Amino acid sequence: MARPFLPYGRQTIEDDDVAAVAAALRADFLTTGPTVEAFETAFKQKVGAEHAIAVSNGTATLHLAMLALGVGEGDVCIAPSVTFLATANCARYVGAEVVFADVDPASGLMTPDTLADALSRAGERRVRAVLPVHLRGDVCDLPALKAMASAAGAVLVEDAPHALGSTATFGNEEHPVGDGAYSAFASFSFHPVKTLATGEGGMLTTNDAGLAARARSLRGHGMVRPAGAEPWVYEMPELGFNYRIPDVLCALGLSQLAKLDRFVERRRTLAARYGELLAPLSPLVQLAASPTGSNPALHLLTVLIDFEAAMTTRAAVVDSLKAQGIGSQVHYIPVHRQPYYVNRYGLADLPGADAWYDRCLTLPLYPTMDDGDVDRVVEALARALSL
Ligand SMILES: *Cc1c(COP(=O)(O)O)cnc(C)c1O
Repeated sequence: MARPFLPYGRQTIEDDDVAAVAAALRADFLTTGPTVEAFETAFKQKVGAEHAIAVSNGTATLHLAMLALGVGEGDVCIAPSVTFLATANCARYVGAEVVFADVDPASGLMTPDTLADALSRAGERRVRAVLPVHLRGDVCDLPALKAMASAAGAVLVEDAPHALGSTATFGNEEHPVGDGAYSAFASFSFHPVKTLATGEGGMLTTNDAGLAARARSLRGHGMVRPAGAEPWVYEMPELGFNYRIPDVLCALGLSQLAKLDRFVERRRTLAARYGELLAPLSPLVQLAASPTGSNPALHLLTVLIDFEAAMTTRAAVVDSLKAQGIGSQVHYIPVHRQPYYVNRYGLADLPGADAWYDRCLTLPLYPTMDDGDVDRVVEALARALSL
């Protein structure tokens, strides 16, 4: 019997998730209703933040963060080159320019060194936000990045869709990602491949009441209800958007959030098994490095492969895996190499991002995989590399 194809990531939807959505469909509200706030409340408690704003998707959370911070034309934002497009694009949505930071080629993360280099390339321009990405789920060195950003007059906006459930130990304190201890905002996405799925969906967390209120009103056209005014009165002091998330999807999110610990534990177990089984393939194949202090709830299981030493190409390995029923993906094509950004800024020299891109390959990781699936993936990879 043919074994099922293993994609690199997929959602885990169970009967009670379906029941939660069905109940929301039968309730009074399809869009903004009580479940939006219930999801926000449960989420902020889970990550230890004071405020959470549920949004239509992860990209919209980043756009709202930029708007709420007042980032605009003449400003610069610093984003790592190894990330999804949205991390950089959000700066452009508000007219700011992007300076791409390089990454550590072993972890794929922005580091204090690569941020220092990016800050120097920003020159005399006004840097307003630095957007560290907790790539794969591993947590960046937030205290160091924050100190450097503050010294430059900027704040951190964590692009954290990969790191829901991750924690990091800084000093003697363990911080859940999203607790806002070092950043103005943290951003999450509930795209189906992420740790928690609502289809489309996202969440912003912050400990700043003013920023939270601003993001909240900008999510709904910039409308605010003046205190004490008649019930029909709303005012639009500034231009906002419709970035609302439906009640129905928040019902799914709330149901999923109750399973986060189980999902995270399963991801950690599977990642540990990958670690054991991949060890004999070293040094040709290595797990992406985890920085000290990071305790990841891995979203992506990314390995670095020396394709040249293996006398093959990534395309051949991807094809071979596919033929063996194994999906894989590349995270990511460095954003500074996208035609839009090359046209705008020329081609920056970011050797860490290029080295990461040359070797990275993401293998299947999601909670419904069983232990034997990991064995199957590693055996297929060894075969693809003729090991
Ligand atoms: C998924 C993702 C986003 C965007 O989220 P969407 O919900 O797809 O808009 C942004 N940044 C990173 C790093 C992501 O992984």
